[in-house]
Amino acid sequence: MRMDNIDTVIIGAGVVGLAVARALAEAGREVLILEAADSFGTGTSSRNSEVIHAGIYYPRGSLKARFCVAGRDRLYAFCEQHGVAHRRCGKLIVATSDAQLIELQKIQAAARGNGVELELWEGSRAIALEPQLRCVGALHSPLTGIIDSHSYMLALLGQAERHGATLVCKSRVTGMRLEGARVVIAVNGEEPVLRARTVINSASIDAPRVARSLAGLPAEHIPRAYFAKGNYFTLSSRSPFSRLVYPVPEPGGLGVHLTLDLAGRARFGPDVQWVQEASDYRVDPHRAQKFYAAIRTYWPGLDDGALQPAYAGIRPKISASSAPAADFRIDGPEVHGVPGIVNLFGIESPGLTASLAIADYVAGLIR
Ligand SMILES: Cc1cc2nc3c(=O)[nH]c(=O)nc-3n(C[C@H](O)[C@H](O)[C@H](O)COP(=O)(O)OP(=O)(O)OC[C@H]3O[C@@H](n4cnc5c(N)ncnc54)[C@H](O)[C@@H]3O)c2cc1C
Repeated sequence: MRMDNIDTVIIGAGVVGLAVARALAEAGREVLILEAADSFGTGTSSRNSEVIHAGIYYPRGSLKARFCVAGRDRLYAFCEQHGVAHRRCGKLIVATSDAQLIELQKIQAAARGNGVELELWEGSRAIALEPQLRCVGALHSPLTGIIDSHSYMLALLGQAERHGATLVCKSRVTGMRLEGARVVIAVNGEEPVLRARTVINSASIDAPRVARSLAGLPAEHIPRAYFAKGNYFTLSSRSPFSRLVYPVPEPGGLGVHLTLDLAGRARFGPDVQWVQEASDYRVDPHRAQKFYAAIRTYWPGLDDGALQPAYAGIRPKISASSAPAADFRIDGPEVHGVPGIVNLFGIESPGLTASLAIADYVAGLIR
């Protein structure tokens, strides 16, 4: 059987794989993107809140903090340059009790540690701007925004292709083995068909499984995958808010918050539902009860029956529900000792915001 030689194979055409493809193609490398699905961007990248995060919550010095802040600025500039629809609408993190005011101060201090300035507002100031809101205080994040993530991915792909990259869909990587300084890759269960100098594993929720399929990669360098589903409900009526509204965060997620799409429609979520398998994206309508209760803490005007089940995404976790949230994990040869392989693990939120910064980092690892 014929075996094609290629410089770089990227596994997964989500927002991160596409951003890496663009960076490497622009740097002059020969790039082939292998995507299991029928099209690019149908995984986690199309099942999120489409928020450009400011960089507020992540531990200081973490990859999440660094890449979010750097990626956010790069992303706004990219959107301007390439005509990707976005809006810097701002976000309010609201305290609904005096006890939560202390949480706001902690969040403000953590954000400052990441170089992100938030304004602490009296509740009355937030309510003057968002009259339907109930709160005793709020943090205002002027740098938070929203983006049309599909247009963004289309622009990334266009840029990558302009520099010679090729996307091949319906091509699931099913096995890899080392052959000297090359990686031999099997696709769709067929005999190995590709030989690559560099492989970037950007398969998100499947990244640990893909890493396990590489014979020769030491098992201790492959984290266990955990899955935290996030369910969304939409509002059947017009959005009562013009900014994003978040409660103080809860373990595993940011609390049931309100985000807006670029058409001004409101959606609530994602909540946190730990699941064993990353296969079922249906939204259980019964979960609405918890949404009503959580949302009414900051929007008491929510009518019964106003929420409709919408969609769900699955967070590619590498830490268990009982453990603190893990950082992004981007393991190159200096970590696992196998030349030519970069594994991206745990690229959950803010992976969309951070995508351009992640891409630069990956490009640096294999330069
Ligand atoms: C509920 C939720 C809300 C979020 N909200 C935000 C937000 O508002 N802002 C933000 O910045 N981030 C957010 N994120 C995070 C963001 O969506 C992700 O970090 C980002 O989309 C990850 O992109 P990716 O390319 O790594 O993954 P994906 O988009 O999942 O792409 C991986 C691709 O790999 C393919 N693949 C898998 N296995 C194989 C294989 N063996 N061979 C070939 N291809 C394969 C898949 O089909 C898929 O297309 C959110 C995430 C979730 C789950």
